[in-house]
Amino acid sequence: MAKPRVLFLGLDGLSWSVYRRLRGRGFLRSLAALEPRAVTGSVDMFPPLTPPMWTSMTSGVNPGKHGIYNFGPVDPSTGRRPRLYNALDVDAPRIHDIVSYRGGSSLVVNLPLSSWPPIPFRGALVSDWLSPKDYARPDWLDKSFRRELEERREWSREGPCGKVARDAAAAAALLDRIDKLLDYDYYFIMFSVVDALMHKHPDELLDPREPCIRETLELVDDVFKTLIEAFRGEATIIAASDHGNEPVRYRVTIPRALYEAGLVKPRYEPLERRLRRDRKVRSLPSPVLAVVNALVEMPLLGRAVIGVGRRLVRRRGLFWIAQGVKRPVPDPENSIVVTPLPWYYDFYVNPRYSAEREKIIARVVEVLEEAMKSTGHRFIHRVEPGRHVFHGPHEGEAPDIVLSPAEGYDLGGLNLQAPIVERVDGSWGNHTPYNMHMIAVEDGRPDLVEAAKAVREPWDYAAFALYALGIPQPGDSDSGLCSRARLRCATANYRSRYMLAKRLAARLGRGAPRQSS
Ligand SMILES: [Zn+2]
Repeated sequence: MAKPRVLFLGLDGLSWSVYRRLRGRGFLRSLAALEPRAVTGSVDMFPPLTPPMWTSMTSGVNPGKHGIYNFGPVDPSTGRRPRLYNALDVDAPRIHDIVSYRGGSSLVVNLPLSSWPPIPFRGALVSDWLSPKDYARPDWLDKSFRRELEERREWSREGPCGKVARDAAAAAALLDRIDKLLDYDYYFIMFSVVDALMHKHPDELLDPREPCIRETLELVDDVFKTLIEAFRGEATIIAASDHGNEPVRYRVTIPRALYEAGLVKPRYEPLERRLRRDRKVRSLPSPVLAVVNALVEMPLLGRAVIGVGRRLVRRRGLFWIAQGVKRPVPDPENSIVVTPLPWYYDFYVNPRYSAEREKIIARVVEVLEEAMKSTGHRFIHRVEPGRHVFHGPHEGEAPDIVLSPAEGYDLGGLNLQAPIVERVDGSWGNHTPYNMHMIAVEDGRPDLVEAAKAVREPWDYAAFALYALGIPQPGDSDSGLCSRARLRCATANYRSRYMLAKRLAARLGRGAPRQSS
């Protein structure tokens, strides 16, 4: 019997509906071919954010144990993220670490928070998109990766091509050296192309015309197909995403509802920089601007002025009149509830009010329910106090309130005078709560079919992969997969080895460029 092997093939932000649209246009043929022999499903990913979800899916534990809740830790008194997380913040070994401790080896490509600083493990690695430096290991793979990146240097950084250049280069490098990449026990290969394009250019992805996008989708598909065929019948294949990403139909300004309930206090700031960068600088004459800005800060008149201004901007396209005009945005330092940007997936009770934390959390949930009732839009899919859903040594860092948006709603509005729910044109996309997966097991393993059917939560993917590899589960695993599928799963403690590897990484990583937001 061949040694057990697992291919974990990831596509960030792929939902079933986007998968079907791409399949209909002749893309992702590798997955289309896998689908008929796979157990398919989807999981409610909570919160539907890239770093915590891939970390849960590959470690088998919840954010309260691995410590990754978002893109970086939040200072709850200011709502700022002073830095981004790096690999050392991940407080639980992931599948490739565990495989390494058991004497196996892995190929890890673009796993968020896997590569900076590099934590040593047996196998090969292509750095992830959160790494401040693009590199691959070992050297022969690095050479290919750098050459492929160099070849795509002219793909513009701003446009859609710039968003997919890393994926295209990584896929091309893997295909280039594929003969040397066929002997690992475990593969984690993730591409960001779907999520990266859905955010700002959904049309470019859903009806791909740009050659750079077609090329990237073909290369990604080629990598998947080559590996699936190389191990046909012998490997267990998990093809999965970390959440969905769909075009947005409504923008939701949750702080407006919290502001009306007195939970958020305003401060007045000129319009966001994004607008200034997009349009040539032109603004109202400064005396007029001064009057407008004085009016904006008056309670009732302010709302009227902003309402007229927004209409002129939105309907007439007069973007320039918004230049320099102040608008009320949340002032975290004076607010009871702190709503960090850029999306409201996590709220915090200002530490000054921590004595009343539970009451405030309950009030926020109530305000959100009322806002959904009064607007007639169920814009929240799920809302939970962080400490009710996350457990472990990092429980104390959990957001006080965790949200996931319902499909089609972008929880990202900032202007406290904007309507709570506003229709938008669907020219951008955002995360949706459900991911997708298809799991095809190696031949002659009915136990694995049962296990695949029992995948229900983010941490079940790691439990499934480890079981398929014949490796004991980490002792603190959060997955109920083994008992649900009536499997006999051994457990082991990998923690001290992981801590040792991290200490080594911290020493090796000294002098590395610092990550900051
Ligand atoms: Zn993602």
